[in-house]
Amino acid sequence: MVHFSCDLCGKDLTPEGTRRFVLKMEAFAAPAPALLQEEDLQDDHVEDMARYLQALEAGLVQEPSPPPERKQMRFDLCSDCYRRFLQDPLRRDALPRFNFSSNN
Ligand SMILES: [Zn+2]
Repeated sequence: MVHFSCDLCGKDLTPEGTRRFVLKMEAFAAPAPALLQEEDLQDDHVEDMARYLQALEAGLVQEPSPPPERKQMRFDLCSDCYRRFLQDPLRRDALPRFNFSSNN
């Protein structure tokens, strides 16, 4: 028998009558390359890059590994987690909020 559990809360979704929702996500790099701006060409990035490469060789900085070009994901969700996902797919509520209120 195939066992299912909610990928968010861990609830057992195997018992008969338990609703299970499948979430499929795909993320990929946007096809159009970013256009260079005029100011990008005016700054001297060669010197910056040389400094960066020196720091890399000296082990002072770690080369960031690029994210995959495309990633497909699949999740099983219980009805509660599915409902919460639909309300806030990017979990914006979990992000820190900054208070921009004026100093009155
Ligand atoms: Zn759940």
